[in-house]
Amino acid sequence: MFGTSGIRGLYGSEITPLLALRIANAFSYSNVVIAKDTRRSGPLLEKAAFAGITASGKDAISAGIVPTPVLAYATLKHKANGIMITASHNPPEYNGLKLISAGKEITKPEEEKVLSNYESGIKLTSWDSTGAVIPDAELVDNYLEFISPLIDAEAIAAAAPKVVVDCNGAAYSITPKLLLQLGCTLIPINTQEEGFKRPSEPAEKNLSELKEKVVEVGADLGLAHDGDGDRIALIDENGNFVNMDVQLSLMILHELEKKKGKIVSTVESSLIIKDAVEQGGGELIITPVGSTYVGDALEKENAIFGGEPAGEYVYSEGVYVPDGVLGAAKFVEIFAKKGKISELADKFKPYPMVREKYPTKDRKAAMNKILDSIDIPGEVSNIDGIRIDADEYWLLIRPSGTEPIIRLTLEAKTKEKLEEIHTKAKKLIEASV
Ligand code: MG
Repeated sequence: MFGTSGIRGLYGSEITPLLALRIANAFSYSNVVIAKDTRRSGPLLEKAAFAGITASGKDAISAGIVPTPVLAYATLKHKANGIMITASHNPPEYNGLKLISAGKEITKPEEEKVLSNYESGIKLTSWDSTGAVIPDAELVDNYLEFISPLIDAEAIAAAAPKVVVDCNGAAYSITPKLLLQLGCTLIPINTQEEGFKRPSEPAEKNLSELKEKVVEVGADLGLAHDGDGDRIALIDENGNFVNMDVQLSLMILHELEKKKGKIVSTVESSLIIKDAVEQGGGELIITPVGSTYVGDALEKENAIFGGEPAGEYVYSEGVYVPDGVLGAAKFVEIFAKKGKISELADKFKPYPMVREKYPTKDRKAAMNKILDSIDIPGEVSNIDGIRIDADEYWLLIRPSGTEPIIRLTLEAKTKEKLEEIHTKAKKLIEASV
């Protein structure tokens, strides 16, 4: 039932009110905070979750529409569990339940515990000991206070940046308020309380309205969230989308300038990320793909920052889930302190890269065969698939978690090196799938 980020699926067939009620009931071993994004099916799933929690005898704390990082903060504030009703960047016909505890997504063993509660049936308390639904109207303000020591408000106020923010989801309830408090001249777009005005993923292809708006109003930068506000994407003052690896590199350097330490990223992280960590004097820690792993490693390794090039940034002084709201403030701070985004981004040149898929009937057998016959020089690691690191290139051969394919990612410092290693890797994988 659980995927890499909670439970997610099509509303009506996979995600139903009954499922929300039962999962919320199974997760009610403490009080539970419920939040949602702007999906149309959100309010009815929320009410089903309220019923599941209060029927168990625990209280449901209603956070309303807030981003996932704000809900994660609420679990700390209320010392309660939390459920975010969202399908993140998936289309509007999807919805889902992200389960959070102590400021981060629950671990696999805790998922097992919820599933076993779920399977043992609905827990019902007696008529006179049912829980209550308690709204928390101060949550957004509390969260803004919580992150305020992490932002250089003085620098931002002095620069008074002009910012266009494309909320398109839960972040409408907080990011505009935050940026206004910081002294930005703000042009918010897609701040609707229900539904999405563009596809939820803040990928370049979905952000043409934002890009045009930035140019039209002469903004210093543009920012875009996904549906549940845990992601943030950056547009420069010319209306150009900044390469996602470059966005992550800018953030890494910025965090390392404040404090030296460990930086967490995944096995998919590219050479410019490695370069940025080195340049900033940090140490790179690699995890499997997925924000749960990044958040976990951040805590265990006592790292200062973790990120994935999907616009997901986790700050050790904040909550241990990606935080697009704090990320928005940080990008504005980067502009305020360092100047034009286009010039900052230009300092990073993405290297030549190949991303390919190879169909296979048996992913496991194919991976074993590849591992047995691999002859590409470099340091091998098996954190998630097979990753090889050398001075001039790196590659990752990884079975997809959901499709019958093997993925190859290869990046090299020169085109010649890319071709040389690509030929070898291709031959190896084709002989094994
Ligand atoms: Mg998301």
